[in-house]
Amino acid sequence: MFKGWRIVALVLGLAACDGIEIYGTYDQYTHLTTDPIEIVMPPNAPYISEQFGRAGELNDTPHEGIDIWAKLGTPVIAAAPGRVSASFYEPGHGNTVIVEHGRDTNGQKVRTVYKHLKTRTASKGETVVRGEQVGTMGATGALAMLVHLHFEVRRARTGNYYTPYDPMLFWVQGPGRVTCFEADKTYADMPFQITYPVPCR
Ligand SMILES: [Zn+2]
Repeated sequence: MFKGWRIVALVLGLAACDGIEIYGTYDQYTHLTTDPIEIVMPPNAPYISEQFGRAGELNDTPHEGIDIWAKLGTPVIAAAPGRVSASFYEPGHGNTVIVEHGRDTNGQKVRTVYKHLKTRTASKGETVVRGEQVGTMGATGALAMLVHLHFEVRRARTGNYYTPYDPMLFWVQGPGRVTCFEADKTYADMPFQITYPVPCR
């Protein structure tokens, strides 16, 4: 019997129950049709377990956001200032919070989406500043097999269909340069730029 399976089972068990803490590393782009972005990951940022755009989760549809691993109950924080437009439970993706960030400098409406939350701490209509807690990390919804945050950036020029974009394009420090939120820093509100949706240690 392959002894490694015990470790695999233990790791999966821990991930399913409590979440796993790994820092400073990330999933490589593997199934992207567009050019992969070079990633610079801060050593204190929780692990990105899955990038945007590759097949994943329970089917072969492209992954519409990034997944981040941390401990169950870790704060999930707004990636940019905005207003909560929805806070709800949905069977597939569990507890979900959506934050609207207004129109970007190119005229597009921008929103960020936070899924599989254990708890939602922001309610519809609430204004949030960058870094403000919107929920806690969990594994709610049938599509969450492990404790993680599924985080999306979506934009729409008109109407209500918001196209998913690679979050890696929008970091405060530039494309691919994952940017931790720092409470004592001042950030420009526009153009739309994000900080990490989970606190760095
Ligand atoms: Zn995901």
